[in-house]
Amino acid sequence: MRLVLVGPPGAGKGTQAEFIAAHLSVPKISTGDIFRANVTQGTPLGVEAKRYMDAGKLVPDDVTINMVRDRLAEPDAGEGFLLDGFPRTTPQAAELDKLLADLGSSLDLVLELVVDDDEVIRRLSGRRTCRGCGKIWHVEFDATTREGICDRCGAELFQRDDDKPETIAARLREYAEKTAPLVDYYGAQGKLVGIDATGPVEDVTVRAIDALRSYGG
Ligand code: ADP
Ligand code: ADP
Repeated sequence: MRLVLVGPPGAGKGTQAEFIAAHLSVPKISTGDIFRANVTQGTPLGVEAKRYMDAGKLVPDDVTINMVRDRLAEPDAGEGFLLDGFPRTTPQAAELDKLLADLGSSLDLVLELVVDDDEVIRRLSGRRTCRGCGKIWHVEFDATTREGICDRCGAELFQRDDDKPETIAARLREYAEKTAPLVDYYGAQGKLVGIDATGPVEDVTVRAIDALRSYGG
């Protein structure tokens, strides 16, 4: 199955992507994770992306599209994938459609995680990520047993630089201006399914998997 997750920063895309990708046995492809790995490794792509990420801005489309094109060409993505955080602009979406059409395929479904801004701000300001295994935690809503230490792998947690209040505000503006139009773009294709992404993580996963099932996933 070829699936895209959309929703504002902090909607729970990364959290749900892990469960959904495992359920569908497809790779989870997160552009944010790929950019962050490049930043950590200090690659030229990472150096360029960091300027935008630190400002809460989207990385330019050409850079992002080239990166995704390379990733989708890897063999594990041949039978399906779950894209988390891509596309985020209408040109990215149009480019993805073209890329898949060239390969003789197309997206099956776009799942929109619907959450309001107040909840997004609560989620982002308490988000913590494991340096070892990448698992996403929350200081209040999904706390580890020992503060700052991952329950799954024992490594240290960190707070993302772009989860500071001023950067969060900039990211929400970018979302409203550049990403929200994707709802209409995919709605017009008849591929969009919105689910309520509030309440416990497990309940959201059940809603997501039910939505996929009704579309054959
Ligand atoms: P979140 O999950 O909080 O929405 P991500 O981890 O997906 O954040 O993305 C972090 C940052 O990486 C974004 O603010 C943006 O700068 C960059 N980024 C990720 N995906 C894209 C994309 N598809 N297009 C442009 N920039 C992106
Ligand atoms: P995104 O990838 O959309 O930016 P994340 O999956 O990183 O979102 O989630 C943002 C924060 O919200 C994380 O700290 C995560 O633990 C928390 N979170 C995710 N889903 C829920 C939920 N259903 N209820 C409460 N907190 C949640």
